[in-house]
Amino acid sequence: TLTEMRKPDWLKIKIASGEDFKDVKELKQMMRSKTLHTVCEEAKCPNIHECWANRTATFMILGDTCTRACRFCAVNTGLPTELDLQEPERVAEAAEQMGLNHCVITSVARDDLRDGGAQIFAETIQAVKAKLPLCSVEVLIPDFMGNFQSLKTVLDAKPQVLNHNVETVERLSDRVRSKAKYRRTMELLRNSKAYKPKIPTKSSIMIGVGETWDEILQTMDDLRAVDCNILTIGQYLQPTRHHLRIEKYYTPEEFALLKEEGMKRGFSHVESGPLVRSSYHAHEQKEAADQT
Ligand code: SF4
Ligand code: SF4
Repeated sequence: TLTEMRKPDWLKIKIASGEDFKDVKELKQMMRSKTLHTVCEEAKCPNIHECWANRTATFMILGDTCTRACRFCAVNTGLPTELDLQEPERVAEAAEQMGLNHCVITSVARDDLRDGGAQIFAETIQAVKAKLPLCSVEVLIPDFMGNFQSLKTVLDAKPQVLNHNVETVERLSDRVRSKAKYRRTMELLRNSKAYKPKIPTKSSIMIGVGETWDEILQTMDDLRAVDCNILTIGQYLQPTRHHLRIEKYYTPEEFALLKEEGMKRGFSHVESGPLVRSSYHAHEQKEAADQT
């Protein structure tokens, strides 16, 4: 069956060793001592050695329990109880210790909070910028249930990139993404541009969950229609067998074709490959957007 499909060779990753590995181990200990979560670690991201060595990391703020349950995601679902007001400061300290030049801040969905966590996002952006004035800050935000005021709170803190993932094509959205809505995602990206036209927007699609080629192209068109600037496309990998099945492994050639299709449509940067994750090569993506 498809679930037993063998992983193609291009998805097997070289494990780093030596100095590089030791650094990552020490940084992981530092994260634990500050009770911080990184997506790099929690999602067992294959790029952690490369990203951390290049001074890029993705912090997950607002706890480790999500009010939603998307079928591709390994984060715990439940009703969160904590709201840690000191977290922005600790993220900034960790970012400083890592000497980051690109810091990505994301969170679980906190539909239990009135502002969806927007204020903590804003404070985290400000705290990182205060400690590392040269570090660019990218936020990967939830949809705040469509709350425009929350989006404005985040944008007022002046992140360098506003990222919100569409994740999949319109037809599969309801099945794959729990409470998120395809049209609400497009609306958020449109509102961001309307409010702060100079802040580049970004989105990601994970493929391999049953979409057609044409539907991927249509999603690109929809993103360009709301002037989304940066696109990342990666292969969906099933975190456990209870999660959504992988329907297809795309080849590196297909990913290259999708990159061409994206560039043709006017994205300033497209990162497309089997192991590409939203924050992979994020620093270069941001530079490309700045030049436009
Ligand atoms: Fe972390 Fe993103 Fe890099 Fe993965 S791609 S290691 S999540 S910064
Ligand atoms: Fe995972 Fe985000 Fe969905 Fe929560 S909203 S289940 S963190 S993808």
